[in-house]
Amino acid sequence: GQRESFNINALIKQCVEFAELDDRIDSIHLKIDLNHSLPSVIGDPIQVQQVILNLMRNACEAMTGLPPEQRILTLAVGRHDQDTVQVSICDNGSGISESTEKGLFQSFFTTKELGLGMGLSISRSIIDANGGSLWFTRNPEQGVTFRFTLPVTPEKA
Ligand code: ADP
Ligand code: MG
Repeated sequence: GQRESFNINALIKQCVEFAELDDRIDSIHLKIDLNHSLPSVIGDPIQVQQVILNLMRNACEAMTGLPPEQRILTLAVGRHDQDTVQVSICDNGSGISESTEKGLFQSFFTTKELGLGMGLSISRSIIDANGGSLWFTRNPEQGVTFRFTLPVTPEKA
């Protein structure tokens, strides 16, 4: 893909617009936590958009067992460290058991009847190729948060 410097807040807004084209998002309470003081990042914005949309889709699918008013998806962006920005996608869905965790990032690993099991493995390769990393943590109450980093655009000397 084509790497360029881009604004991560703008990309997240685009992802939300894309996601809203799908009626299934209507039953989800979407919280967007942007941060306009963040520096630009380097990467392929089209690929990064695919990753965010994949993670949003997984989050929505993990919450289908909840009544609609309890389905909350939070998209947030912030500084990870000096050289990287972090994007997080948080749900309060079914969570990830230890046995599921083992296969999570492998191709064709799915727990869904009609799943392809490609979303997370592709997402991780994309983020690796863009110089970041992708991982998840379990939320204290319910559900999981997927996070990935991207390198900040280096300042010109
Ligand atoms: P697919 O969505 O086609 O199953 P993925 O690679 O996107 O493939 O995800 C693999 C598996 O990881 C899913 O089947 C599911 O078991 C688990 N998973 C991914 N995201 C979440 C999430 N947000 N909450 C709970 N489980 C998840
Ligand atoms: Mg998926």
